[in-house]
Amino acid sequence: MKKLHLLFPCFLLAFYLPVQIMAQDNLPFKEGSFHFPDIPGYKTLVCDFHQHTVFSDGSVWPDIRVDEAIADGLDAMALTDHLEYMPHKDDVANADHNRPYQLALKSAQNSNLLVINGAEITRSMPPGHANALFLKDVNKLLGLDNLEVFKEARNQDAFVIWNHPHWFPQNLQGTAILTDMHRKLIQEGLIQGIEIVNEFSYSDEAFQIALDNHLTIMSGSDIHGLFTTINTPEGFHRPVTLVFATGKSEAELKEALFKGRTVVNCGNQLFGKAEFLVPLIEQSLEVKGAKMLISYNGDRSTIADVTIQNNTGMDFILENQKDFLFYNDADVVTIKRNSTLSLQVKLLKDMDSFQLRFKVLNAYTAPSQHPLVSLAVKVGK
Ligand SMILES: [Zn+2]
Ligand SMILES: [Zn+2]
Repeated sequence: MKKLHLLFPCFLLAFYLPVQIMAQDNLPFKEGSFHFPDIPGYKTLVCDFHQHTVFSDGSVWPDIRVDEAIADGLDAMALTDHLEYMPHKDDVANADHNRPYQLALKSAQNSNLLVINGAEITRSMPPGHANALFLKDVNKLLGLDNLEVFKEARNQDAFVIWNHPHWFPQNLQGTAILTDMHRKLIQEGLIQGIEIVNEFSYSDEAFQIALDNHLTIMSGSDIHGLFTTINTPEGFHRPVTLVFATGKSEAELKEALFKGRTVVNCGNQLFGKAEFLVPLIEQSLEVKGAKMLISYNGDRSTIADVTIQNNTGMDFILENQKDFLFYNDADVVTIKRNSTLSLQVKLLKDMDSFQLRFKVLNAYTAPSQHPLVSLAVKVGK
C-alpha cells in the first residue's frame, strides 16, 4: 500500500483508492481467524488451555467453547472448570468432573480440534489457582490439601500451570510474587508452566519468574462468557499460546509443553524465548521480491525496492538496525497484519543479495528485551 501511495502523486489520489480496494483480493489469507506459520522442524499449534463452562462459573455449555475454538482456527483447547467453585451446581448437577471434557470431545469429533482434559485447582494465595492439563481422572483431585492436589496431578502425568499469578483480587498490587510454597512446588516438579498473560492482563514479573525457573511460558483467555465480548472489529482475538510440536497430536502437544516450546500471543504482542520467537517472526515476514529502482532515463539506481508480506493476523513494528538506510522511511516501520509493505533500501552499490536486520519492538524475549530478526533479500534482474 505504501508503495502505491509513493508512486502515485497526490493529484492522482482518486486512482489510489480503487487500487487499494482491488488489492484486497490479493490478501495473504482470508481474515477472521488466527494465522501463524510453522517454524523449521515444528508445527505451530494455536491453543487456548484456560476456559470455563456452566460446570463451574462460566455461562456456556462445552459445545459452544468447541464452536468458538473452531471459528477462531484453534488447533487445541482445554476446558478448565474450577474444582472448588461451582456456583451453578444446583442447576447443573456435576457428579463427574470429566463431563465437560467428554461433552467437548464429542462435539469436536468431526473437526481437527484437539480437546484436552483439564481442571482449575482453585485455592487462595498461595498457591492461588493452577490448571492441570492432560488429566486422566479429574475427580481424583477433589478434597485434597494444597500439596496433595498437585501430587495427584503429577501422578496422572498432568502438565500444571500456575494461573494468573498477578491477578489483583489475590494480590492488590497486581504483582506476581514467587512465595516459598511456589518455590517448593517448582523444585518438586509439581508446576511446569506459568501464565504471563491472562485475559487482557500481562505480567513482567511472571515472565521473569518463567525465565528464572525454566517454566513454560503460557497464556489463557480465562473466558467465562462469550468471545464476542473480547474480540474486536480491529482484529483483537483471545490471547493464545503458540505451541511448537513435532506434529498435531495430544502426545506431541504434551511433549512440546513439557519441553517449554511456546510463544504467547496477545493482540499485537508476542512473548517467548528467542529460539522460538525469532524463527516465528522470520517465517511470518516473507520477502516477496526486490528490484533496483530504475530512473526515468533508464539508469539503474542502487536503491532496492523490497516487498515484504506479513502472513499473520498481527502487526509487526520493526526498528531498522541500520546496515542500510531507507529511502522512503525513517528507522521504525510497521507491517500491518495480512498485508504487504514496500521498503526502499539504499544499498549504495549494486548487490545481488543482502540482509535486512530489524529489532522487533512488539515482541519480547524477556521483560524490556526485543528479538533481532534477519530477512534475506535476493535482488531480481
Ligand atoms: Zn483462576
Ligand atoms: Zn479460570
